[in-house]
Amino acid sequence: MPVSGVEREVCAWIEGRRDRLLDDLRLHVGLPTGFNNTKALDETRDRFTSRLADLGAQTELLPGDPKPAWLLGKQIDDRIPPTAVCRRNLGTGKRILIAGHLDTVHDPAGNFRELTIAPDNKTATGPGCVDMKGGLVIAACALEALHACNVEADWTFLLNSDEETGSYHSNRHIEEESKKHDWGLALEPALPGGELAVERGGSGQFMIECRGKAAHVGRDFGSGVSAVYALGGCLVGCSGFSDVARGLAVNVGPIEGGAATNAVPDRAVGWGNVRYRDAAGADELWEKLGSLATDRDAMPRVVVERSFNRPAKPMTSGTERLALAARRVAEDLGQVLPFASTGGVCDGNIMQHAGLPTIDTLGVRGGNLHRPDEWIELASLVERCQLLAVLIARLSRGA
Ligand SMILES: [Zn+2]
Repeated sequence: MPVSGVEREVCAWIEGRRDRLLDDLRLHVGLPTGFNNTKALDETRDRFTSRLADLGAQTELLPGDPKPAWLLGKQIDDRIPPTAVCRRNLGTGKRILIAGHLDTVHDPAGNFRELTIAPDNKTATGPGCVDMKGGLVIAACALEALHACNVEADWTFLLNSDEETGSYHSNRHIEEESKKHDWGLALEPALPGGELAVERGGSGQFMIECRGKAAHVGRDFGSGVSAVYALGGCLVGCSGFSDVARGLAVNVGPIEGGAATNAVPDRAVGWGNVRYRDAAGADELWEKLGSLATDRDAMPRVVVERSFNRPAKPMTSGTERLALAARRVAEDLGQVLPFASTGGVCDGNIMQHAGLPTIDTLGVRGGNLHRPDEWIELASLVERCQLLAVLIARLSRGA
């Protein structure tokens, strides 16, 4: 399909914002939204929601759900961040759900705090620059471009603040919004070669807690029941659950147990993460982990907690249609958009599992995500913003 006159106008509008996009990225990279840093998260959320309000969106701040208490890195309940849902509902076309996360993995008190542009002006490093401040910045600009050029589109922009820690607070809201829309777009960075991820594995968390009976090793060893030995037995069991060829991975760590070498430990705990390619793999690991649990009154007792919070995201016909639509836009704009699969997980997994065809790597290009040398390819700001804007325009017309 050739680029239409209005699409050309949208792209030119975005091209005219090249410097503004970079300034905006610099501003947002400088707001340290890692480690559930409420102040920066609130400011970032306010900045985006007010820009979207200028485009006619109504914002709802939805309170987050608590995390399961057994998970590592337990959230302090009074700091659960809300999910912002900004709706622009004209009732004119297909409804598009755009999802972005405000949080990063970077320590606000660390040394990696700002956007630093390389001497060749082609790349820059900064905390969250590619995952996903760049994605947020281009999405806001793409929607502004459509508005400025009078291109009608029905969209909802969902901004959560806990994606990097598993989206436990926002999961329910993502699911509910997914059910109300026709197409899902998430702003995770492109894969290393600029590819669009069309299928993703899934991921889950678990905890194995063993309870035994404490005893003094010298005086009363025979009456003790070691929780550490019980956990050891479970972990040997877990080591046989992985099957790399079938995409099943079970990792355990950290573990803890015992307080002193002369005391039989009465509690030991191991936390772990599983990966799977499809629902059958998830079911298999769910069952195998569950089989380690004992009855309530067993001694030692084994309790297994599981939360498979990111279902696998296989290629479906809806996703393929969406990916091909994105590729057509890319090619029409003189770009390329190869497809690939990845083992990484994101909110796209939740969106598609809720029935919404979703592509989730529409953000900017770069690399070294989650590392103190995370970088962005600066040319991708304009390119990917144009791609996103034209894609949204076409999808909302049902093309
Ligand atoms: Zn991300």
